[in-house]
Amino acid sequence: MLYILVAIALVIGFTLYQRGRKRQLTQVILTDTQRKLLATHIGYYSNLSDIDKAYFEDKIEQFLDGVRVEGVGLTVTDLDRLMVASSAVIPIFRFKDWSYRNVTNVLLYPDTFDEQYQYEATDGRNIAGMVGTGYMNGQMILSRNALVKGFSSGAGKENTGIHEFVHLVDKSDGATDGIPEGFLPFEYVKPWVRMMHQEIHKIEAGHSDINPYATTNEAEFFAVVSEYFFEKPDQFQTKHPELYDMLSKIFGQDLAKG
Ligand SMILES: [Zn+2]
Repeated sequence: MLYILVAIALVIGFTLYQRGRKRQLTQVILTDTQRKLLATHIGYYSNLSDIDKAYFEDKIEQFLDGVRVEGVGLTVTDLDRLMVASSAVIPIFRFKDWSYRNVTNVLLYPDTFDEQYQYEATDGRNIAGMVGTGYMNGQMILSRNALVKGFSSGAGKENTGIHEFVHLVDKSDGATDGIPEGFLPFEYVKPWVRMMHQEIHKIEAGHSDINPYATTNEAEFFAVVSEYFFEKPDQFQTKHPELYDMLSKIFGQDLAKG
């Protein structure tokens, strides 16, 4: 009996020690007000158990420690920062020791922008988010309107923030090609590619409820179905059970209640 008590005390002590140690390592520490913002605005977070909520908060702090969120033509609020960080954390929530090495800055624009990153033009502004390449490497641009809409209750199966961070997960193996090699066991790569192409044909033929933007290429397909997976897991599992299983393997998450 005594041994068991000592063992329990050691485990608790070690856990607290680890938490205390990590606390000193992150400069960003969420306040109670910020935690309340998460609970009010981030459905994914409010569905988590208490232990997982604390884990989510840790990951938010780590993300905000390493990535600057800057406003272009707007003042960034606490909620903006938390929404960007949540978009980043949701896809990688079950990855061990993951950090986004391929982004240092997220630029928030008021609304959609065009290919020259202009948001004031009256037409041609149809981009809600992008991951920079070339001289824009390490930068992400997000429309704040689209970001906020993605976390509103009427978002449907779309979430621009999650979409862009899934591109970064995809890009982590060197190629943004819809195949996240680091997270998909080798034997699943071929079936996954076949599955993507089959569904793209269905979308093109008008036989799928997946956003047609997914037919652009494999990378967009992966980002678009991932939005659907995280936003409407039950519906996605019912309508696309095979895609659901594959994304569940990739992200290590099984969110559907069915
Ligand atoms: Zn995209």
